[in-house]
Amino acid sequence: MIGIFGGSGFYSLLDNAETTIRETPFGAPSSPITLGTIGRQEVAFIARHGVHHEYPPHKIPYKANLYAFRELGVSRVIAPAAVGSLKREIAPGTFVIPDQFVNFASRDDTFFNEVPVTHVSSADPYCPELRKLLAGMANLLNLPVRDGGTVVVINGPRFASRAESTFYQSLGDVINMTQYPEVMLAREMEMCYASVCLVTDYDVGIKDNDSIMPVSAQEVAEGFKQNSEKLKRLILDCIPNVPAARVCNCKNSLENARFS
Ligand SMILES: [Zn+2]
Repeated sequence: MIGIFGGSGFYSLLDNAETTIRETPFGAPSSPITLGTIGRQEVAFIARHGVHHEYPPHKIPYKANLYAFRELGVSRVIAPAAVGSLKREIAPGTFVIPDQFVNFASRDDTFFNEVPVTHVSSADPYCPELRKLLAGMANLLNLPVRDGGTVVVINGPRFASRAESTFYQSLGDVINMTQYPEVMLAREMEMCYASVCLVTDYDVGIKDNDSIMPVSAQEVAEGFKQNSEKLKRLILDCIPNVPAARVCNCKNSLENARFS
């Protein structure tokens, strides 16, 4: 099964959808989970921010969301996200398929708080197989796409100051508030995780951008809306092309990760 963090815009297309409400040891997920099939592929949808967008980034029940996906049998997660650009050459409207993150968010970010002490590698946190598939499909659809990139993750809910933004530019390509700990919680559960980051605006610290008004939440929402049909098409077109067997290493994340 493939898990997707997407709202009703995604699953309203399914004609065989059903909804299930799940509890987990970490509380309820952000939303009821919608289950259905695309082609022969089973899919599960969670609205990351809640059905009525009631969860700000720092309040999202990340552990409950990933745990619920795993309990349903999800082995791969596709996670669309809105991001700000940290590079002049990455224009709004670009789809970035990231391969790295730099985290500044301070959150409950692990399932492993007990023995055995477990250290999962985050050297390559995003699934290379899913990333290639998404980037290839974006090319096929003639979407402006960047295969690979570093997401700087901040806690939010406030946007970065100009000085912070200038600092973040030296570290990454785009900036976001939800990629972490989502990506690593998936990895801890040996699920593949790939993101499609839709650039909605330039971050405030971009050089020559001083005259530009800082981004507002409304602008982000508008930027996302303008491109949401393309985003939906990209992800839904990818689903039938996901191979049945996983050949990446995501499924072996816990091998050699524990002190015996
Ligand atoms: Zn993988």
